[in-house]
Amino acid sequence: MKYSNSNAEMLCSLRPEPLSNEPEKLQRDYLHYLNRHYGRFLGCDSYYIYSAMALVLRDRLTTNWHDTWVAYKDSSVKRACYMSLEYLIGRSLGNHILNADLGPALEKLLMNRAVSLEDIEEREPDAGLGNGGLGRLAACFIDSCATLQLPVVAYGLRYEYGMFRQKIENGRQIEEPDHWLRDGNPWEIERPEYTATIKFGGRTEEYYDADNIKKVHWVETQDVLAIPYDLPVSGYKNNTVNTLRLWKATATDEFNLDEFNAGSYTEAVSEKNNAEHITMVLYPNDVSENGKVLRLRQQYFLASATLQDVIRIWEKTGGEDYSKFPDQNVFQMNDTHPTIAVAELMRILIDEKGLEWDQAWDVTTKTMAYTNHTLLPEALEKWPVPMFEQLLPRLLEIIYQINARFLELISMKWPGDTDRQRRMSIIEEGGVKHVRMAYLAIVGSFSVNGVAALHSRLLAEGLFHDFYDLWPEKFNNKTNGVTPRRWIAYANPAMKQLVSEKIGENWISDLSEIERLKAFAPDTPENREFHQAWRDMKRQNKQRLANLVETNCGVIFNVDSLFDIQVKRIHEYKRQLLNVLHVIHLYNRIKAGDTEGWVNRCVLIGGKAAPGYQLAKQTIKLINNVAHMINDDPAVGERLKLVYYSNYGVTAMEAIAPGADLSEQVSTAGKEASGTGNMKFMMNGAITIGTYDGANIEILEAVGEENFFLFGLRAEEVEEQRHHYNPQSFIDTDEDLKAVMNLLESGYFNLQEPGIFNDIINSLKSPHDPWMTLADFRSYIDAQHAVEQAWRDQEEWTKMSILNTASSGFFSTDRTMLQYNEDIWKLKQIPVHSPVDV
Ligand SMILES: *Cc1c(COP(=O)(O)O)cnc(C)c1O
Repeated sequence: MKYSNSNAEMLCSLRPEPLSNEPEKLQRDYLHYLNRHYGRFLGCDSYYIYSAMALVLRDRLTTNWHDTWVAYKDSSVKRACYMSLEYLIGRSLGNHILNADLGPALEKLLMNRAVSLEDIEEREPDAGLGNGGLGRLAACFIDSCATLQLPVVAYGLRYEYGMFRQKIENGRQIEEPDHWLRDGNPWEIERPEYTATIKFGGRTEEYYDADNIKKVHWVETQDVLAIPYDLPVSGYKNNTVNTLRLWKATATDEFNLDEFNAGSYTEAVSEKNNAEHITMVLYPNDVSENGKVLRLRQQYFLASATLQDVIRIWEKTGGEDYSKFPDQNVFQMNDTHPTIAVAELMRILIDEKGLEWDQAWDVTTKTMAYTNHTLLPEALEKWPVPMFEQLLPRLLEIIYQINARFLELISMKWPGDTDRQRRMSIIEEGGVKHVRMAYLAIVGSFSVNGVAALHSRLLAEGLFHDFYDLWPEKFNNKTNGVTPRRWIAYANPAMKQLVSEKIGENWISDLSEIERLKAFAPDTPENREFHQAWRDMKRQNKQRLANLVETNCGVIFNVDSLFDIQVKRIHEYKRQLLNVLHVIHLYNRIKAGDTEGWVNRCVLIGGKAAPGYQLAKQTIKLINNVAHMINDDPAVGERLKLVYYSNYGVTAMEAIAPGADLSEQVSTAGKEASGTGNMKFMMNGAITIGTYDGANIEILEAVGEENFFLFGLRAEEVEEQRHHYNPQSFIDTDEDLKAVMNLLESGYFNLQEPGIFNDIINSLKSPHDPWMTLADFRSYIDAQHAVEQAWRDQEEWTKMSILNTASSGFFSTDRTMLQYNEDIWKLKQIPVHSPVDV
């Protein structure tokens, strides 16, 4: 099928009528979808009920969605384009209901039916288009941009299979494919009229144009089509509906004619399959990719389709003079994943729009901005030049050109400093040359930001210090956040109600207001009632979590116990092992009868391991084995429980954060760029036990050290000790650590499977352990003692809990987005008027 843009516009230049939210009208539309659209009359699978409900909601967003697009298409409006390979969205129905304030009306509609709104929400699969923090950050960002009425369009990939589902069998992680689109996605709208063509392979060819200027053709390419699917991103009660545009790869309709005529009809057709592989599956690695050609294809596919789309829209809204393009467009690249966009924009401007190099470079370096997410050098993406050359020959030429000009700049500024040139080159020399994507991003961007104060400082001092010397003005910090709509108002309705009773509802879209809760934190007679209500709210949330734990893990959590929680991707630097060592220590104490003043504790650990990350997978097995020994030991009883909560994801976190008392944020200092799980826990009134790392530092500063359990070496101390790190000396001088290591090494937790934890034990005991886990053991155990002491005074704990929520205002992504806008994007907030106003 061919689509013509002009036809599409003729048909669609209508503004959709606003729809009524009267319960009868909602009911009528709901039945329309259930009966007529889905053809369900009698009993039906509840998935159809969910889908019909989603369509009722989507219909109610369309007028605003239309109006938002129209407002942004004004030629005077500057727009930002957020580019990310990941969006860890989770479910959408409840979020849109909250934003559209349709909860009460829908409850009414369902009053006489056998199904509750909660049951319906349960049928929505998580949109798991991301791995962890980076993808969830993108999802929080777009939520905040819609609430702030910022003209930001988000672009990503429509993976057919999202993040794998994690099962635990015999204590081990099993990955199951997540075919989340199997039953259709009622939120998305396909827009084939905006299909883009993406080139791969082929070769380049020089030619002279009419003005006798040397140009390059990229020819004999194997093309793939990119079809956009739009998802609505609603703002909180404000009529704005922004767009998340996700690209799906499909084959072109052209056959390989040679093959076709040679009689290989079926081969020619199945070639087409290859194209569709590009958006088939999300890579399940949290930090490092390992040079897979399919991953590079994904990256280029996103960058090229997105740039073509942004340019198409700009030209359609009157854009012509490319020197003005940066006044109307800005690109934010989420990590190095989409940074091939720097070279792709150059290609489009030069090869397709006819700009000269210098003009094109000026446009590119005024529109591109890059966010770095990691301090781990192994996580900085590099692509082998031969692979690059085969897949994207024209892009490689452009990167070489960029690099040649860049190195010339360096040699002018530091004449004769060849070592500096080698260090800073976008092309890494060596056996096989590599393209350093982070360096391409820095050279091509006007802004480079880290995601927490410490992280941004360490980038400038360490990983990127050569670039910081050259361009200090490019570097800036934007501390991450999370959206208070999903992470408090939606996930914790009991807290939403309690807080709103005290300080009104403004905090939902202006979290700085939550500070007003501080007045109710002191343990005074007039606050007693509120403190009791706060504890009741926590208890209710803990019961909800305990029910899930029983279903998920078959273990009963007593809500009077301290809920001690660590959920995040499993990685050595995040040090789930340190947590396990503490649990084993508690077990030793129980066995040794050292239980005076004991605090009952329920420890929950959850998270996915990258399928190829052996040590992470062994860590999961260890946690499960330790859990079995402890939970089955009658001598332990209520004093200690440990569970591995399988398939951690956004939906799980919505129940976990509100039910937490203690938030474990124990990464090796200097390794966690920011963390955002820490912020969700804080907002929900959990108290952090954490290292001086990432955004923990800013959390500590906001809440005060008396309301935070700080422990461990600082980043500088870690680097200093690294040279003479001797874990054995910690074991020799600490009886508690010695007992823990002895028990682990005795095979007590793996009697049936000798040796399976040897790799873990060896890594802990290695003087080269990069994560220096044993160096922080004593300090961690002492901090856990302080936790117990604080817990024994429940009034005091309640005060700390309230103060954590009350101090979390800074960690809203609304604040983060306003700072991106103020310092980087410079967009105007565009109010969208309510349909009834116009
Ligand atoms: C917030 C979140 C993360 C990030 O957690 P960190 O503790 O910052 O690593 C990862 N996964 C999910 C599902 C989340 O909601």
